[in-house]
Amino acid sequence: MDYPGPVPADRGLHPCHHLTVIDNLWRCLFTSLCVLCDQEVRGHNARLQLCRWCLASLPWLSRPDLELPGIDRAFAPLAYEGAAKNWVLEAKHAGGLVAARTLGILLADTLADAYPFSSERPERLIPVPLSSRRLRRRGHNQAALLAAPVARRLSVPMGRRDVRRIRHTPVLADLPPGNRVDAVRGAFTATADLVGARVAILDDVVTTGATAGAMAHALRAAGAREVHLWAATAAIHRT
Ligand SMILES: [Zn+2]
Repeated sequence: MDYPGPVPADRGLHPCHHLTVIDNLWRCLFTSLCVLCDQEVRGHNARLQLCRWCLASLPWLSRPDLELPGIDRAFAPLAYEGAAKNWVLEAKHAGGLVAARTLGILLADTLADAYPFSSERPERLIPVPLSSRRLRRRGHNQAALLAAPVARRLSVPMGRRDVRRIRHTPVLADLPPGNRVDAVRGAFTATADLVGARVAILDDVVTTGATAGAMAHALRAAGAREVHLWAATAAIHRT
């Protein structure tokens, strides 16, 4: 897999990495359609279901490490724009399971490079939970779908129920940035004992970091000593 942009192309990205022999055969022989342009994809890129043209044209962030208040380390490989934005929106839709899974595989590959040493990796991966109302309407939580390939690739256990959203919040994208922290404050509670743990929050897109900040607050209240944020995309100006 040749990742353009800031991700080194020669480390740990071969599709046969960490797979069983049967998985290798199935995946390496598998031919599929690109999730972004429907063109046939073969070989190494088939695992991602992304053709090399679409892969190269994604809006890669030159600096995927972000500064966010209350977060010890925040990482997002793609800008929330163009094809990446469409990909995230598709992952939210009822039929977006494949889109979510493949975006999760791409995120997992970039994170494996960003965290090359297992000793630096969080010990728990917690997707941002949806409110029960939104989950009923959507049918799936796209953050949890993204998290599954990341948990497998980085060998970090997923705590899908470690945090609950205790009240419904408005769609933050509809609010002015200055109002988002207040809108989401106190929206989460941790239900797991996280004393001393290094925890990663996983989301599809980070904008102001208000949601992650509120969730980090709940995680620290449960004893987490370090909180990371892993997002597929970031709605920030590219630098
Ligand atoms: Zn394509």
